[in-house]
Amino acid sequence: MALKRKGNITRINGNMVTVAFKGFVVQNEVAYIIHGEERLKSEIIRVRGKNAEMQVYESTSGLNVGEEVELTGELLSVELGPGLLGQIFDGLQNPLPQLAEQCGFFLKRGIYLEALPDEAKWDFTASAKKGNKVRAADKLGFVQEKIFKHFIMVPFGLEGALEVLSIVENGKYNLKEPIAKLKDLNGNIHEAYLEQSWPVKIPIRAYSEKLKPQEPLVTKMRLIDSLFPVARGGTYCIPGPFGAGKTVLQQLTSQHAEVDIVIIAACGERAGEVVETLRTFPEISDPKTGKPLIDRTVIICNTSSMPVAARESSVYTAVTIAEYYRQMGLNVLLLADSTSRWAQAMREMSGRLEEIPGEEAFPAYLESRIASFYERAGVVKLHDGSTGSVTIGGTVSPAGGNFEEPVTQGTLKVVGAFHGLSRERSDARRYPAIDPLLSWSKYKSFIDESHVKRGHDILLKSHNVSQMMKVIGEEGTSLSDYVDYLKGEFFDFVYLQQNAFDEVDQATTSERQIYIFNFIYNILEAEFDFEDKNKALHFFQKLGQQFRGLNSAKWKDKEFEKIEKEISSLL
Ligand code: ADP
Ligand code: MG
Repeated sequence: MALKRKGNITRINGNMVTVAFKGFVVQNEVAYIIHGEERLKSEIIRVRGKNAEMQVYESTSGLNVGEEVELTGELLSVELGPGLLGQIFDGLQNPLPQLAEQCGFFLKRGIYLEALPDEAKWDFTASAKKGNKVRAADKLGFVQEKIFKHFIMVPFGLEGALEVLSIVENGKYNLKEPIAKLKDLNGNIHEAYLEQSWPVKIPIRAYSEKLKPQEPLVTKMRLIDSLFPVARGGTYCIPGPFGAGKTVLQQLTSQHAEVDIVIIAACGERAGEVVETLRTFPEISDPKTGKPLIDRTVIICNTSSMPVAARESSVYTAVTIAEYYRQMGLNVLLLADSTSRWAQAMREMSGRLEEIPGEEAFPAYLESRIASFYERAGVVKLHDGSTGSVTIGGTVSPAGGNFEEPVTQGTLKVVGAFHGLSRERSDARRYPAIDPLLSWSKYKSFIDESHVKRGHDILLKSHNVSQMMKVIGEEGTSLSDYVDYLKGEFFDFVYLQQNAFDEVDQATTSERQIYIFNFIYNILEAEFDFEDKNKALHFFQKLGQQFRGLNSAKWKDKEFEKIEKEISSLL
């Protein structure tokens, strides 16, 4: 584009600015408002004749009608390349710690920093050769990023068959030095770098096929893996009232889930929460490597005090980075906490556009946006036959914990598993506070299906008896009903509940889950001959304490075996 396309502001409504343009305007292209020395990033979101509405990713205070706007012809994109891991970005991929260093936590507007350090040199090992025929996303070579081989791939946007005209020798290169020249079928020459960029709102589709998510993604949380499992490449939703344990749950999952890389989209309710994430996360250690967990994590962070458009874009930035690592054949887990904040950003923008509101003033397209976000999860077969996956887990924080609201409902329609947190459980300190009577999963557990079903039945029966006892009292309950009640409580106490602060108990491998589940299952299925309710109560209390001890003992070590023997002697 030789001529710079320009326009002028005609109206300012919060972060929504109307601009009159000469020439053409492209939906979703990035534009900059020129305000003195400042250049404020914006995105065109609606075009009407020669007028366009754009959302400004910055505070618009002090802007004036008449000020100039420059169009870029580019869609809002992220930089993808080595150096992403370990970083904390805002929704526009500004590195937050560096930004905070420059401006303090109250970010100054109009400052855009390089997402990836340009000058840093990476040791590149080529795998493609001159003369090779390649296509988008094929591997050209790799650099070592932390513990991963970070593959350098043919830019995803290049179409058709390409020929490698030249490729650099193995050695150190920075992100701005071309590492290969590629010729397309029309004879055009393209350069490839260690980094590439990709528009955040368009899924990366450089793979042969999307497969059905089938393999379990082990989170090491028993309640999830055994009863309401998540599949690799699948989707799940965690709605819960404030303080029910959504963030703790996601932190545990990011530590223990069997995936290579974790991307966290933290959309905080308050600035304090995000600062907390920034401070605590880098200190969490990785049980897999003993190194900091952040070495295989990327965090996208924003708060309600950041401009609405930047908040809205952050989940897209996160999922695009997730897809990028998936293209390398890695398993990626994306955790979005909380998607309600994202939906609220959508609502604010829709209000400014004066669109016809749907339920609870959310835009009518809320559900389709939620659906297209979760659709970016999946297991894919890559061109070289290997597979990669993106699993998406999103929390929802409905006001008052009421799940009958549009964001929860819209999410439930599209996800494969639902882990509903209940206030009742968190108040009773039954953690994780996932309600087993409310939750469901469409994915397959590694525990035998009929046993899982029995587990559900026992919990339901126990719950019903406990409700009945509230009315008619314990005396009015039959011994056999009372024993069913105790069995459910016992199952909950020793299997569903897991102590996040106990080194061993906080994460249970699949092997151990299968073993313990079967052990407990046999007890649940056993017929006991109790003399009275008191004896039954004492028996299950004692057994419960023993199993708690077992849960804290290292897998199959001396202590474990000792407790196991003690339990056997009780039976
Ligand atoms: P939310 O994100 O849903 O608002 P948090 O995850 O911040 O809630 O949890 C709130 C508090 O509940 C935590 O600070 C912690 O004290 C307690 N809590 C949550 N989950 C657990 C858990 N698994 N084990 C022990 N305590 C927990
Ligand atoms: Mg939280």
